[in-house]
Order: sequence, then C-alpha cells, then structure tokens
Amino acid sequence: MPSELIQKDQQYIWHPFTPQKPQPEVIGIVKGQGSLLFDEEGKQYIDAISSWWVTLHGHGHPYIAEKLFQQALTLEQVIFAGFTHAPAVNLAERLIGILPGNFSKVFYSDNGSTATEVAIKMAIQYWKNRGEIESGKSKIENEIHPRKKILAFKNSYHGDTFGAMSVSDRGVFTLAFHDMLFEVIFIDTPTTENIGDMKAIIHAHGQEIACFIYEPLVQGAGGMKMTDPYLLNELLNTAKLNEIICIADEVMTGFGRTGRFFASEYLQKKPDIICLSKGLTGGTMALGVTACTDKIYSAFVTDNKLHTFFHGHSFTANPLACTAALASLDLLEKENCLENIQWICEQQAGFIDSLRNNEELYPKKIHNPRQIGTIAAFEISSGEDEYLNNISGTITRKCMDQGVYLRPLGNTVYIMPPYCITQNELEKVYTVLLSVLRG
Ligand SMILES: *Cc1c(COP(=O)(O)O)cnc(C)c1O
Repeated sequence: MPSELIQKDQQYIWHPFTPQKPQPEVIGIVKGQGSLLFDEEGKQYIDAISSWWVTLHGHGHPYIAEKLFQQALTLEQVIFAGFTHAPAVNLAERLIGILPGNFSKVFYSDNGSTATEVAIKMAIQYWKNRGEIESGKSKIENEIHPRKKILAFKNSYHGDTFGAMSVSDRGVFTLAFHDMLFEVIFIDTPTTENIGDMKAIIHAHGQEIACFIYEPLVQGAGGMKMTDPYLLNELLNTAKLNEIICIADEVMTGFGRTGRFFASEYLQKKPDIICLSKGLTGGTMALGVTACTDKIYSAFVTDNKLHTFFHGHSFTANPLACTAALASLDLLEKENCLENIQWICEQQAGFIDSLRNNEELYPKKIHNPRQIGTIAAFEISSGEDEYLNNISGTITRKCMDQGVYLRPLGNTVYIMPPYCITQNELEKVYTVLLSVLRG
C-alpha cells in the first residue's frame, strides 16, 4: 500500500521528463542532508548526481539556510524594475569579479532556460539595435536586421522554452515541436578530423550569424560528451573573426564542475555573454544569470526607447535566491571546498583509469570512459544509443537498492557528486556501480 504522500502525488502531480503510462513510480523524499537523501521509510541514498547537477555543498546546508532565514525576515521579494536591493547588487558585483572574460552587466532571470533565452534575445536585438544605430534609421517599421542566424552544436541542450529548444539538438525531447522551432545552423563539435570543415561553415555564413551558443567542454544533457579545449578555442577564434557573439552556456559547467571555477577558463577565447544557473545558488533556489560585456550592453544604451531590452520575470533577482547565491559563493571560496573539488577530480580520474584497466568491463561491457573535473562518464555497450531504452531505469533501480542514486542519460552513466561528498560515500558510489555493471 503506497503512503499517503505517494497516493496524493499520483492523484495530483505531473512529473518532468516522465512518461505517464504506466503511471510512474516515485519515491517520497522527506529529508536531505549533505550528500544524502532520506525516503519515507528512512532509507538513505547518496545523491551522486547532485539532484540534476545543482547541489554543490550538500542538502540542507546550515550556512545557506541561516542566510535565507535572515533574508526572508528582511526582504523576501520586491519588483526589480525601478527598485534594487543589496543581494542583487552584491551578487552582480561578485560575479563580475570572477566571471571568465570582460563582463560588465548582469541580467537576472530564474532558471537555466530563461538564462539562455535571455542571451539569445540579447544577441539578436544587439544586431538590430546596432544596425539602426549605424544606419541612423530607427523607426519600428524599419527592417534593418543584419544578422538573424544562430549557430549551435549538434547534440546540445540549452533548455526547454521555445528559444532554448530551438538552439538545442533536434531529438526526442523536441520532436513534437520541430516545425515550430526557428532555424539554426548546427555544426558538429570539433574533432581533429572535422575542424577544417566546421571552420569553413562558420566562414561561409559568418556575416549572417548573430551568435554562437555552446556548452563549453561538456555537453551535459546530450550525454556528458566532452570537447577538446584547444579545438573549441579554434572554433571560437573563427567565430570571433566573423564578429559572431559567443554565448557560453555554463548553466551546468559553472561553479567548479570542470575543476576550474568556469569551463571557459580552459579557453583562451572568452565569451561575450555567459549563462549561469543550476549551481549558482548552491542548488538551493531557482535563479538565472545572463551576463554580458560592455560591447553588447552599449547597443541598448540609446535615446531610442525601442532599443530597450523588453524582457523580465516576476521573480527577477529574487532577494532570497540572490542571498542563496552569495552564501554559496562564500562556501565555494573557502579553502576546504576548493580542496574537496580537487580531491573529487583526482578520485574521478582514478576511477575512470581503473575502468580502462578493468578487463572484465572494458571494452566489452562499457566504452568511452572519460572525465573532466568532478564529472566522470562512460557508455554501457549493450544498448543502442537511445534515451528511450530502459538501461537507465534498470541501473537507477539497482543502484538505489544499494543506497546510491544515479540517473543515466540513456546508456550514458555519469557521476557528478556534490562537493561535500565524503571519501566513504564516494567509494560506496564506485563499489555499488561496479557491482551493478558486473551484473
Ligand atoms: C540544465 C541546463 C539548462 C536548462 O536549465 P533549467 O534550469 O533546467 O531550465 C540549460 N543549459 C544547460 C547547459 C543545462 O545543463
């Protein structure tokens, strides 16, 4: 007999990314602490994927909780047009100080999809405004829009709203909407073999392309696919030669995931716009940031009201969310957090190494073991490359039976732990996963 929580869930709730027939099984979680999640029966699970890549310092962190409590008593929300507040200003100042590039302005929204949506709109309107500024014509009926095309990688994921979907890979996630998505030039992620061709495509369309949106070094939802920094840098260089606005979607890679604060730190060519969310608040609250350089911003600073960026959300720069982000940054900048991140990087590299040397598993049962920073991933060989097959569900179930929560993307298994994970916990994740793989 399911608990009351589960019965009511089944009566009232529609869960994300979840087929509804047969009615999906869910587990009631009543508490989170550190790396652990506790269900209604008191069984505990190590959250080895940081609750969809958001949790940095662990669940129920007392420092973040205390800051949130104080802020909730002080100012929980206020309209952000015409008003401002310290959490938003302090966070913007602090982010500008650490972001990889010459950023000058922070635009707030409330999740990763809106962060990329804002970035795309900013880039498109930048070219329209600039075209009008340069031609001296500025009437609304004027059709001056020199660059409208967008460049993106195949296999990418930038979110689920329409703009974000449009620049994402055309796959099963977006299938119902394909003929409604705007046109995008998709290129392959660079390899030593194709880099020349990819550069040629960029050059050929260079003057029509408004922006290039990319997940630096790791394509997350696309299956933790990793790109060589040198080759990605070459493509960014080609984009910049064509004056294409470079948008780094660091919604997943930001805040230490790749072993550096931002993945763009591995790249010499820096973005003009950067998108953040997920780990931004340590995984506590929903918040999105789209930061841009002064060059982008300046195209919106004119006497023409039509050059305004007409975009905003009710909860833009929510003071609680900004407070959580400031608290998370406090924790991230602490010595022991940076040491933990380095330690996780070493453990993950060691685990991937051990997989490569595991003759029972590799290359027969698993392939393509890889790692960057705190992220380790590999593919299971026995399934087709399909999100819809059930390998993922089987692995999740078997690992959960042994107290570890993993949620493979199709046949791609990955581990992305919160930074507070202990040695015992991480070793348990490896041991349980290995036992499940051996079958
Ligand atoms: C998760 C993700 C998004 C979307 O963020 P949401 O907060 O889920 O809307 C966008 N880009 C990347 C790279 C992501 O990993």
